Amino acid sequence: MVTGLMGLLGLCVGSFLNVAIYRLPLGKSVVFPSSHCLTCKTPLQWYHNIPLLSWLFLRGKCATCKAAISIQYPLMELACAGVFVLVALWEPWAEALILGLIFALLLALSVVDFRYKAVPDALSFPALGLAFLSGDILLSVEYGLLFAGGFALLRMGVSTLTKKEAMGEADILIAAIIGAVVGVSLGLVAIYMAAVLALFAFYFFSKKEIALPFIPFLSMGLFVTYLFQTPISKLIEVYYG
Ligand SMILES: [Zn+2]
Repeated sequence: MVTGLMGLLGLCVGSFLNVAIYRLPLGKSVVFPSSHCLTCKTPLQWYHNIPLLSWLFLRGKCATCKAAISIQYPLMELACAGVFVLVALWEPWAEALILGLIFALLLALSVVDFRYKAVPDALSFPALGLAFLSGDILLSVEYGLLFAGGFALLRMGVSTLTKKEAMGEADILIAAIIGAVVGVSLGLVAIYMAAVLALFAFYFFSKKEIALPFIPFLSMGLFVTYLFQTPISKLIEVYYG
């Protein structure tokens, strides 16, 4: 029951974040004007704005001008629903709500970073605030600051060595979120995983000369580490006592 409700809530959160993903990089308000078709500007009726279902019933086309509506919209909604359901299986509802929102915001940040090379504060700061609330507040803040500091130092070091700016300032903020959500040892695992994933991606896409955004990898590292925290913690215990 709770899981189902969380799934529905995830759909709605995804639907709202779709608007944020499109509007924030353009410096537009998330609230005004109300949702409209990007091609013909016709305001959407409420029944054209139901997460997932409207896109399916309209078969991915605007009801007025028949312009294609990106599949990114239903995919984002589905992904957020999936994230909310997964955390609801693990956590009591209040914690699940906070974690679901954090992961959904990170997903939105990943899409914006990937597509627009931008990191809107309107998404990153709420995610950080929620991360501080995700467990014991004092500990979360402490681990968050520790990871932010560590990442800032790492960035300075790598930038000095390579003589160009390594990573973005926003990556420091994401590192703080990682520390706050899963703590020190799991946080290091998450960042290591992110680096390995990024290396693979760099290897496969390096010929295309695209600058790889790091936020999608950090977010993925955190989400996977969170989901598998029990076996990962056991492994850490076995190796490091
Ligand atoms: Zn239209």
